[in-house]
Amino acid sequence: MGIIDNAKAIKDALAEVANLELKQDLLRIVNDALELQGTNRQLAEENRELAEKLRFREQVTFRDNAYWCEGDPDPYCSGCFDSKGQGVRLARRSDAGHYSCPACKQTILVSVRQV
Ligand SMILES: [Zn+2]
Repeated sequence: MGIIDNAKAIKDALAEVANLELKQDLLRIVNDALELQGTNRQLAEENRELAEKLRFREQVTFRDNAYWCEGDPDPYCSGCFDSKGQGVRLARRSDAGHYSCPACKQTILVSVRQV
C-alpha cells in the first residue's frame, strides 16, 4: 500500500473519530506526508537530471571551441554546456568546419577533424 492509499485510509478512518483535535492533528500529519512525497519526487527528478549531466560531463572533452564525446562525430555547444549544463549537439553547416547550435543559435568554427 502506497502513501496515497494510506492517506485515504486514514482520512476515511478519521470520519469515525469524534475527538476534533486528534482529527486535525492526524489530518495535518497526512497532509505533511503527502507534501513530503511530492518534495521527494521533485528531488528524485532533480537528482536524475544532475546525474545525467554529470555522466555527460565525464564523457566529454573540450577542444577546438567545442565539447566532444568519444565515439560521437558531432561536437556539442560549449556555450550551452558551460552556462546551462546542457549537452546540445551542434548542427553541421554547409561551410566546412562551421556548426550552429539549435538552442542558442551560435555559429561555431571547429576543426574539421573528428574523434
Ligand atoms: Zn548553444
